[in-house]
Amino acid sequence: MTARVLVVDDILSNVKLLEAKLTAEYFEVVTAYNGLEALAKIEEHELDIVLLDVMMPGMDGFEVCRRIKQSPKTAHLPVVMVTALDQPADRVAGLESGADDFLTKPVDDAALFARVRSLVRLKMMTDELRMRETTGQSMGLIDPAQTLVEAAPTGRILIIEDRPESVAWFAGALQPHNEVSAVDSFEEALVRVRGGDYDLIVVSLGLRGFDGLRLCSQLRSLPEGRNVPILVLVSDGDRRKLTQALEMGVNDYLTRPVDKNELVARVRTQLRKKRYSDRLRYNVQLSLEMAITDQLTGLHNRRYMGRHLDTLIANAEKSGKPVAFLILDIDYFKSVNDTHGHDIGDEVLREFASRIAANVRGIDLACRYGGEEFVVVMPDTDMEFASAVAERLRRNVEATPFAISREPRKLNITISIGIAGSEHRGDTAEALLHRADQALYRAKRDGRNRVVAAAA
Ligand code: GH3
Ligand code: MG
Ligand code: MG
Repeated sequence: MTARVLVVDDILSNVKLLEAKLTAEYFEVVTAYNGLEALAKIEEHELDIVLLDVMMPGMDGFEVCRRIKQSPKTAHLPVVMVTALDQPADRVAGLESGADDFLTKPVDDAALFARVRSLVRLKMMTDELRMRETTGQSMGLIDPAQTLVEAAPTGRILIIEDRPESVAWFAGALQPHNEVSAVDSFEEALVRVRGGDYDLIVVSLGLRGFDGLRLCSQLRSLPEGRNVPILVLVSDGDRRKLTQALEMGVNDYLTRPVDKNELVARVRTQLRKKRYSDRLRYNVQLSLEMAITDQLTGLHNRRYMGRHLDTLIANAEKSGKPVAFLILDIDYFKSVNDTHGHDIGDEVLREFASRIAANVRGIDLACRYGGEEFVVVMPDTDMEFASAVAERLRRNVEATPFAISREPRKLNITISIGIAGSEHRGDTAEALLHRADQALYRAKRDGRNRVVAAAA
């Protein structure tokens, strides 16, 4: 794996040393010697991670980190503070400014590279989602404001630990803001994660009864566990286990004895990241739905119908089952717009769409085909049944006036419907739609408010 790393330090020899080591590991290195230069480099380059000194003249590392994390454009960029500061309070200040990790010099090279690789790998997963979200935004399908995440989210946390006193300590530290539960066996942990909607899993790697690393790997392979961050607890000095855990894809770690403030800061970071990627996933899903949905009526749009029809016809052909098409069109709709305004016209379209949806089956595909024309595709349906559905809809529209938001509050509406069915082998969607359209034309010509079936 290769990645572009920004090294920030005010001392030239520190920068050169890190640059040499990272280059030897095949990382691409960009350098900066103060806070402002670092922020400029971040704007300029597509970076994967920042290694940030804390004590620098001018803007210190805490402030640089805060600025990176506050901007929606750069908040996803992992930041590791590499510093001579070694007090728990410094570490907490670093994590609270948004850093993903805080390493004290002299830093063990293997540990540093393991951490850099793990953070870059985790970033790659959200990069893919961010890219799709950007596409959604550029198509006007996603509002950028919907991706911002609150600073201190809370969540459901599962603690996997078999020492009761340790569980009590964790619960005490996290309980005030989060919903915390604990399990002490391998099987129970898997059952809970499968069934539970957790935001974070804390796994002790010093369990007496079973192997915590094996559990982490199993949690990662569960569909319900794949997107839940894992934070592991390791004994101080157990570098081998920590490296293995990071390679397995765990998100963060704490060394025993655990500092309470550090725990709270790391948990908060993980919850914030989880919330962010959940939001991304949701937005991407939403934009997919919006791309195939008509915004006015909520029915499928013409683009979706076009794509879906070919599969549907092919399936019908294979199984030898009939398919029926209905084209529905509001009579004299132009005069609704002309008399009551376009917004009232829209209300009528929405109401018509919901009446269509209420009168067809779940397997039928209802679409807004264009303007005031709708299409219903009915799989496994013969002409007789399709005619009955169409006639029921026509009567429903005629019998119950449409409610509108202005005087006269109700409008009498009628519709015309053309029907066609696939009765010959080799019928295409296009040919069927054309026959249904011709039937609709005849319904209009013969006086409207009627259903006409195309001759087979
Ligand atoms: P016919 O009985 O022959 O169907 O007559 P009609 O007036 O319904 O048909 P025509 O095709 O002449 O007019 C359709 C109108 O639908 C014209 C157009 O302004 C209107 N329309 C198309 N899309 C929308 C929309 O999204 N909202 C509203 N309010 N009107 C729309
Ligand atoms: Mg310095
Ligand atoms: Mg019309």
